[in-house]
Formats: sequence, structure tokens, C-alpha cells
Amino acid sequence: MSVSFYKRKITVARVYGIPVRIDYRWFVVFALSVWLVANNLHRAPIQLPGILMPPLDAVTAWIIGVITTGALFLSVFGHELSHALMARAEGIEIEEIVLHPFGGLARLRTQPENPQAEFRIAVAGPAASFLFAVLAFLATKVASLGGYHLTVLVFFLVAAGNLLLAIFNLFPGYPLDGGRVLRALLWKRSGNIAEATRMAGICGILVAAVLILFGVYMIVAPNFRAYFMGLWSILVGLFLMDAAFAVVRHGRSLTSATVSDAMTPPFSLEPDLLISHFIDSILPLHPQTSFPVAREQRLQGILSLQDLKEVPRERWRDKRARDVMRPVAAEMFVQPSVTLVSAQELMRHNGLGSVAVVDDKGLLVGFLQNGTIRRASKRSS
Ligand SMILES: [Zn+2]
Repeated sequence: MSVSFYKRKITVARVYGIPVRIDYRWFVVFALSVWLVANNLHRAPIQLPGILMPPLDAVTAWIIGVITTGALFLSVFGHELSHALMARAEGIEIEEIVLHPFGGLARLRTQPENPQAEFRIAVAGPAASFLFAVLAFLATKVASLGGYHLTVLVFFLVAAGNLLLAIFNLFPGYPLDGGRVLRALLWKRSGNIAEATRMAGICGILVAAVLILFGVYMIVAPNFRAYFMGLWSILVGLFLMDAAFAVVRHGRSLTSATVSDAMTPPFSLEPDLLISHFIDSILPLHPQTSFPVAREQRLQGILSLQDLKEVPRERWRDKRARDVMRPVAAEMFVQPSVTLVSAQELMRHNGLGSVAVVDDKGLLVGFLQNGTIRRASKRSS
């Protein structure tokens, strides 16, 4: 479900170069929301803070329904845009923003590199929603000074909607924003992103279960009978449950995967290799950013293209791999049985974006590079 779920969508705009797409089922939810707002405003008197309005006539109720629903979906978009712009400020590319039946999603190309970045990106969405709620609430004050009751009504609904959006998203279950905050805190404390993700995902399953139970209660409780709200709560709960389960499964496979599952065969350079020969004949065939340097399967160092940039072109003919490489050090290699997670941690911090894999006899048996380990990232409203 998780993959096919986001497929049916159309691109409606580009904002700051980010494609904004709408899931087809979103139109159904939009129409439903308009009907729900219009129906409520038409049927009964409306109680606002300090104002009691008689029920609206049908046409006015429908117009207010469309305006309010439009403003609320723009608010969801603003929430996602806030995540996306914060992610961009952290140097992460944004794939797209999707509006789907249960809210929005800013999809990032890669995961945040550290817990601090994850925290800032997660908090940016609810912060925007709180800000919108405060601005809309201030607008109700201004409108009520002028006696524009319909305007007060619209801004009041927008303020309440945004407040709800901010609070709901701060529930501490992954993939909600609150769950991401939780994951960032656990990640910072333990240094283990896979375990943090798994824990935040388990909390996500619990939050989803509470939503489903609450939905059932709203439907069956004798003096409550909020069928629509109940059904909605159950649907959102099921949606979250599915996403949280996927995260927990993924986290478990990450925790158990080892370096030997992901490494590539050890293609290495001879220490005596001339840099000019390397540039002309080897690099074009092996487009990677770093290479292990070894003789008779014994690791001597790692040659990184970044270090090679420091060497002037006219020196390429008399420099050899061993002159340019970083000599072997502890943070450059791991054993095949080490978990992938700790190898990735090492790669993030050793300044190479790669590690050599060396077995217990000291022989080079593989190589691990950042770009070759696939990572996908999703973000839910
Ligand atoms: Zn969010």
C-alpha cells in the first residue's frame, strides 16, 4: 500500500522550484469538507467567541464552506512548505510536496545527516501551523471590530483548523512530526538512528491504535454518535498504522543488516600507480569518489578524489597513489560482521564517505561507499 498509495497524482504548481502534486482522492476529501462545513453552518445557530449568529442561508453556507476549506488546504500546504524550506536550508533536496486525503507530505531526497537537522525540519511544520493559527485569530479580532461576522467566522475556523493541525502533528508517533522529534531525541542520545527509528515507529503504532479506538468510541457511545468524525479518526488511524508498521519493519532490517550484506567487491589501486594513469584509464571506468589502495590484499590507505584536487595537474605524471592517499587509520576500515548502521556512522565522520572492509586475517575483502547504499525518505504531515 505505501508505495502505490502516492502514485495517482497531478502536478498543480511549482513553488520555489518544488513540484506541488495533488492525489486524485484529495478532490473527494475537499468536496466532503465543503459539504460538512456548509451543512453545519446551514442547520444550526453558530456560536463564536462573543458572537451568536443565526444559521446561514444555503448559498452563503456553501460559499463559506468553499472559502474555509480552500484556506485550510492552503494551510496544510504552508505546513509542508515550511518543512521543505527548512530541509533545503539543511542542504537536502526536495523531491515534491504532495497533498493527499490525510493531509500533506514533503518528500526529501535524502535523510537528515544528524539529529539536530532532523529536529529542526520536523518542528518547522507545526511551528508554521501555530503561526497561521495566531495570525488567523488576530484577524478575527480585527474583523469583529468592524462587525464583519462572516469574516470572523472564516478566520475563526481557519485558526481552529491550524491549531488542530499543529497539535495533532506533535503527537509523539512516527511518521508524525512529533514522532520525528522523538526520533531525533533518541538518535541524539544513543547515536543509533535505526534503533531510534524503530522506537519512534512503535510509538506511531500506539498513537494510531488510540486514534482507531477513539474513532470507534465516537461512533458507538450513546450520547456522542459523531459518525463522521469517528469514521475519519479510524481512517487516519489505519493510514498511520500502515506507515508506522513499514517504518518499524525497515528499522528492524537496518538494525540487523551487516556490512557484508551491502559491500561491493574490493576493487583496489596499487600503491605505485601513477596518478596520470589513474585519471586517464581507471577513473573513467570506475566513477567513484574514493578507492582503497592495497598491495597483495593488504590495505595501505584510501585515495579520495577530494585529496587529489589539491595536486596540481602538472604533478600528475610524477605522483603515485601512495603519495596522495590517506595512510590507513582505524576510522577507514571495518570488519564484514559489523552492522551497516555503525559502518554508516563511521563513513559520515571519517571525511571520506566510504570505508574499506577488512577480514580478521587483515585482508581487504570489500568496500562500502555512501552513494551505493540506497536510502529513501518519506515525511507525513
Ligand atoms: Zn508536518
